[in-house]
Amino acid sequence: MERNTRQRIAIREAIEVARRPLLPQEVLDQAQSLAPGLGIATVYRNLKALVDDGTLAVVQLPGENPRYEPVSRRHHHHFQCRRCQRVFDVHACPGDLSRLAPPGFSVEDHDLTLYGCCADCAGQAGTVTPTPACDDTAAHAPGHGHDSCC
Ligand SMILES: [Zn+2]
Ligand SMILES: [Zn+2]
Repeated sequence: MERNTRQRIAIREAIEVARRPLLPQEVLDQAQSLAPGLGIATVYRNLKALVDDGTLAVVQLPGENPRYEPVSRRHHHHFQCRRCQRVFDVHACPGDLSRLAPPGFSVEDHDLTLYGCCADCAGQAGTVTPTPACDDTAAHAPGHGHDSCC
């Protein structure tokens, strides 16, 4: 297979399996294992071509670099983690939001982004700062720092 074709397939694959919108750098990280030697310039060039031919959609969050996802993905929303900055797909939808529009306005579409902390980052926070446990039956070595609990 031609090298360029292989690279484009690797880029599409990376975005398809990610199940969330990817930054060009994330596309590169994912696609490199499928197409060794892939560079960021090639990723940018292919992303542009895939948007132009209607394969990929651009996800543009305010103040963020563009991310890319397949156009074929049906109506969905996004969640951005404020700790790792990754953007995830959200498949729940509040439905018709016409009631939020001023009287006389008709709503045709909506775009919704949730912000918070992803499960990965929430889990990490738990392991980085564990709650000190104190077992009364354990033999406490002097100066082990449990002044507040024993
Ligand atoms: Zn996160
Ligand atoms: Zn929706």
